[in-house]
Amino acid sequence: MRIDLHCHSTASDGTDTPAELVRNAGAAGLDVVALTDHDTTRGYAEAVAALPRGLTLVTGAELSCRVDGISMHMLAYLFDPEEPALLAERELVRDDRVPRARAMVARLNELGVPVTWEQVARIAGEGSVGRPHVATALVELGVVPTVNDAFTGHWLADGGRAHVEKHETDPFEAIRLVKGAGGVTVFAHPGASKRGRTVPESVVAELAAAGLDGIEVDHMDHDADTRARLRGLAADLGLLVTGSSDYHGSRKTCVLGEYTTDPEVYGEITRRATGAFPVPGTGGA
Ligand code: AMP
Ligand code: FE
Ligand code: FE
Ligand code: ZN
Repeated sequence: MRIDLHCHSTASDGTDTPAELVRNAGAAGLDVVALTDHDTTRGYAEAVAALPRGLTLVTGAELSCRVDGISMHMLAYLFDPEEPALLAERELVRDDRVPRARAMVARLNELGVPVTWEQVARIAGEGSVGRPHVATALVELGVVPTVNDAFTGHWLADGGRAHVEKHETDPFEAIRLVKGAGGVTVFAHPGASKRGRTVPESVVAELAAAGLDGIEVDHMDHDADTRARLRGLAADLGLLVTGSSDYHGSRKTCVLGEYTTDPEVYGEITRRATGAFPVPGTGGA
C-alpha cells in the first residue's frame, strides 16, 4: 500500500486541477491520496468525480495557524466539510488571503516590481491565493528564476520585505474545531526550518496534550537528523507519524508518493475520524 497524505491542487497553490491530481496519483501507483489544499475543501467534488478505480481519496485541508508569532500548518483529515464552526474559520482564513495578497502586490510595487493584482489573480484562478502565486508572478516578470527563489528575506519569506501576514488560526483552536467536525489533526512539516522559525518541542507537547493526533515526519523539508529527532518526539508524546510528498504539481520539485505513510498509521487515522469516510475510486469521470 502506498499512501500519500498531503497534496495540493489548483484549489490552492498546486498546479494540477483536482481531477488531474487524482489521475496522476493513480498513474503514480498510489493506493491512497489525500487532498489537503490550504484553507479550503473546494476541490473535493471534482476529485471524487475523477477518482480512478483502485485509488482511495482522503478528504482534508491544510489549515494556516500561528502560535506565539510562529506560522505553522495543521493538516486536518476526514472532518465534516459542512460543520459550521470549522467551515466559518476556514472561510475567514481563505478570504483574508485576498486583501493580504493585494497588500503584498502593493509592497512589491513600492520595491519597484511592476506586478499587478490582475496578474496574481489570473495565476491563482479559483484557488486560495497565496505566496506561491505571487512568487509565480515574480518568475514571469523575471525578478527571480524560480518560485523557491522568491522565498527569501528579500521577497516573500516570513518577515521578508514583501511579506504580509494573513489571519491564521490558533492551533489549539484548530485542534478543537477539527475534532468538533469529526476530523483528525497532523502537524505538517514541524521541522521545516528553512521556511522560518519552527514551533518549540514544548509547544508540540502542549498541542499533543490538547488532542493533536500526529506529526508529519517524512517530508522533503526535513533532513535525516530532523526526522530522527521528530520520530523520538512522536514516540515520547504518543503521536502518530506520517510521511507525505506535499505535492504542488510543477510549482515544487517533489513528486507524488516521494514520501509515504505507514498503512497502520493510515488505518488508525481512519478509525479515529468520524466526520467523513475515505472515498474508494470507482473509475472516474
Ligand atoms: P501562504 O500560505 O500564502 O503564506 O504561503 C505558504 C506556502 O508557500 C506554503 O504552503 C508553500 O507552498 C510555500 N512556501 C513557504 N515557504 C517556502 C519556501 N521556503 N520555499 C518554497 N515554498 C515555500
Ligand atoms: Fe503550499
Ligand atoms: Fe504546508
Ligand atoms: Zn502543504
